[in-house]
Amino acid sequence: MAYLTLKGINKIYPNGYHAVHDFNLEIEKGEFIVFVGSSGCGKSTTLRMIAGLENISKGEFYIDGERANEKGPRERGVAMVFQSYALYPHMTVYDNLAFGLTLQGVDDDVIEQRVQATAKILGLTDYLDRLPRALSGGQRQRVAVGRAIIRKVDIFLMDEPLSNLDAKQRVTMRSEITQIHRETGATTIYVTHDQTEAMTMADRIVVMKEGYIQQVGTPRELYFNPTNMFVAGFIGEPPMNFIEGRVKDGKINISDNIIDLSAIADSDVVKKYEGEEVVLGFRPEAIKLVGKEDTEKAFKISCTVELTELLGDNTNVYVDIKGIKTILKVDPHDSPEMDAKLDFAIPYESVYLFDKNTEKRIKLKAK
Ligand code: ADP
Repeated sequence: MAYLTLKGINKIYPNGYHAVHDFNLEIEKGEFIVFVGSSGCGKSTTLRMIAGLENISKGEFYIDGERANEKGPRERGVAMVFQSYALYPHMTVYDNLAFGLTLQGVDDDVIEQRVQATAKILGLTDYLDRLPRALSGGQRQRVAVGRAIIRKVDIFLMDEPLSNLDAKQRVTMRSEITQIHRETGATTIYVTHDQTEAMTMADRIVVMKEGYIQQVGTPRELYFNPTNMFVAGFIGEPPMNFIEGRVKDGKINISDNIIDLSAIADSDVVKKYEGEEVVLGFRPEAIKLVGKEDTEKAFKISCTVELTELLGDNTNVYVDIKGIKTILKVDPHDSPEMDAKLDFAIPYESVYLFDKNTEKRIKLKAK
C-alpha cells in the first residue's frame, strides 16, 4: 500500500452539497502532489479531509497502511499552511515559530536550536524579534511555512499558501518551497488554482473539476497527454486552442483550410468519426511560421493578425481564421504586423482531437 491512500473519498456537507466525489489517489512517501482546479472544485475540502479538519463522508483514508478516518489532526502527523498565514499577531517571529514546540513540552534549548535552524532555512534570522505586522507578506508567509517545518512532521499540507503574495514574491517562494521539500523530504500536498504553480512544483498533479478528479499525472503527462478538453485547456498558458468541426470524407474543413485526418490518425479512427462533430486542439506554442521553419509534416492554415502582445520572451498573436479566433505564440523577433496575412502550420504530432460530445481525447493511433 502507498504511504497515503485515499479510497473512494466523498464529502457531502451538512447542507447536502456533494463537494467531492469518489476521490481515489495513492501518494508515495516524499512525493510533492498538487491539487489544481478552478475555485470551488473541491481542492480545499479534500485537503481538509486529509488534515482531519473535515470528516470524510464516505470512503477510506490510510496513512502508512493504517486507517486514519477517525484520527484527529494531531494524531495524523500533519502540518498545514494556510493562505491567511494564521500567525499570532501579538507574538514575535521567534515565538510564532516556537509555539507548537512549546505546547508539546519540548525543552527550551532544543526549541532554540530548531527555531534558529528553521529561521536560517527561510532567511528569517534577522527578523526573529519582530511582530508579524512589521513583516512583508512574503516574510509572513515564510513564518507560516516555518511553523509547519519546525514540527518535523512527515506530511505537509498547503492550501494556496502563495495567493496573498505579489507576482514576484510568488515566484521566489515557489522555488523556496520546492527547495524546502527537497531538504525535508516530507510528503507534501499543495492546493492551488494556478496551473503555473502546479506545473513548476509538482511531482504529480491532480486536476479537479466540480468535485471530480479529471486526471492524475506528472506535469509532462498532463501537458502532452491530456485526457480531455478540460485538462488540455487548463494546463498551459495561453491555453490550448480549440476549433470545432465535422469530419467529412475523412477531413475537417477549418474556414477552407483542410485538415486531412489520414495524415495523423489510423484509418479505423478516421472511419469511426466520419460525419461526427469533433474538436481540434493545438497549443499556441506548437505552431510554426510558414516560410520560416520546416513545415513539411504539418497542416497549413491562413489567418489574419488581429492583435499582438509582446511579452519579452515571446509574442502572443491573436489571429482570425475567417471568423475563428485563436492564439499563436511566436518568437518576439517574428512578431507580425497588425492586420497582416499570416500562414502558420501545426505539426502533425501537435494536433489533438476530442470528441465534441464527451469532450474526451480521441486516440489517433493505436501505438
Ligand atoms: P476549492 O478549494 O477547490 O476552491 P472548496 O473545497 O473550498 O473548493 O469547496 C468546494 C465546494 O464545496 C464549493 O462549492 C463550496 O462552496 C462548497 N463548500 C465548502 N465548504 C462548505 C460548507 N462548510 N458547507 C457547504 N458547502 C461548502
